[in-house]
Amino acid sequence: MTMNCPYCSYYDSKVIDSRDINDGVRRRRQCLKCNARFTTYERLQQASLFVIKKDKRREEFDKNKLLNGIRKACEKRPLPTGTIDKLADDIEARLYELGKAEIPTSAIGDMVMEGLKKIDYVAYIRFASVYRDFADITALKQAVDTLITTQPQTSPVASQLPLIPNEQTARLAKSHLGRRK
Ligand SMILES: [Zn+2]
Repeated sequence: MTMNCPYCSYYDSKVIDSRDINDGVRRRRQCLKCNARFTTYERLQQASLFVIKKDKRREEFDKNKLLNGIRKACEKRPLPTGTIDKLADDIEARLYELGKAEIPTSAIGDMVMEGLKKIDYVAYIRFASVYRDFADITALKQAVDTLITTQPQTSPVASQLPLIPNEQTARLAKSHLGRRK
């Protein structure tokens, strides 16, 4: 990193002292032209992350939106305190770990679905019905059937399934199709 001298604007300086501070480095510099001394601070900046929406619009990643999406799907579900925040934290960390500047919202949606699937099936279906393009009711029904068959009858998760009666899932799918027109 170089910085022009604040006194004479000369472009070059030497470092005469360097010290680690909380979240960066403080450097004492001396201008190679006028010999004036000044201090610079270097800080690591969190890379900004953009999401690409379905309509190709680009906007800065907003963790609150992620949280709200998950919260909405988990509304009135009996989840332990902190579950939702932890899922959002995990997804945020994974997004930054990818090291990409831009990520499609669909990729984030997939991560949420994957996470919800392990946490709460009803929340998963709610989220999936909004996020994933279920082409028709059959596709949605297949997804529900898959969930039922992959769960043993004795599982407490399986006992949650009657909470989404067939007509309700059908209505969900129908209203979703309506929006797609
Ligand atoms: Zn200078």
